[in-house]
Amino acid sequence: MKNNPKEETPSVKDIRIFRSRIIRWFNKNSRTYPWRETRDPFKVLIAEIMLRRTKADQVEQVYERLFTEYPDVEAMANAEDRKLEQILYPLGLKWRTPAFGLVAREVREKYKCKIPETREELTTLTGVGEYVAGAVLSIAYDKKEWIVDSNILRLFRRYFGIKTSKDGRRDKHVIEIAKIYASERNPRKANLAILDFTALVCTPRKPDCEKCPLRKRCHYALLCS
Ligand code: SF4
Repeated sequence: MKNNPKEETPSVKDIRIFRSRIIRWFNKNSRTYPWRETRDPFKVLIAEIMLRRTKADQVEQVYERLFTEYPDVEAMANAEDRKLEQILYPLGLKWRTPAFGLVAREVREKYKCKIPETREELTTLTGVGEYVAGAVLSIAYDKKEWIVDSNILRLFRRYFGIKTSKDGRRDKHVIEIAKIYASERNPRKANLAILDFTALVCTPRKPDCEKCPLRKRCHYALLCS
């Protein structure tokens, strides 16, 4: 790997090596959550919207009850805000509660109750940005679609030694890395793997470089050694 790629996109070969090591790590260390046990795009979409500002264990607390009460688009489109508020109370999302009914109504009206299968259509929905769209497409539909959140951005910065703007999630070269990363076989697994890796190993404050399977090629680890 080039020692100092800075604002360039790393080579496809480097990204493939990075990807295969993360997936190997994930095969032994993946986390299990109810929204990972379904391919129902409606449940994946709603879970991903909840996960944007909330911890996974909080979402786990409401997941079963929410989808028992509202198992599909039609049921959630008809939900009363007060009832939704009660169920979602542990998430502390009171001000966002109406958005869940709203997104369901948008799917019903614009897309005949079918969760869209393209990024362009998904991002027309309330509460759905590039990250949630990429997550739904890759996790529910297994499409080769990229995701970048602040954790993934941090990992790219550290491992590849790239420079980014302040909110680098929208930088072209960052998105290019994420696209190449998701462009191979099994994008669902690859994207879940990088989410778990950034949550458990390459964490914000104390990355576990000692035990990290990427350390030999990681720019940050090489600088610190
Ligand atoms: S070696 Fe350290 S900084 Fe590099 S990817 Fe692993 S945990 Fe992150």
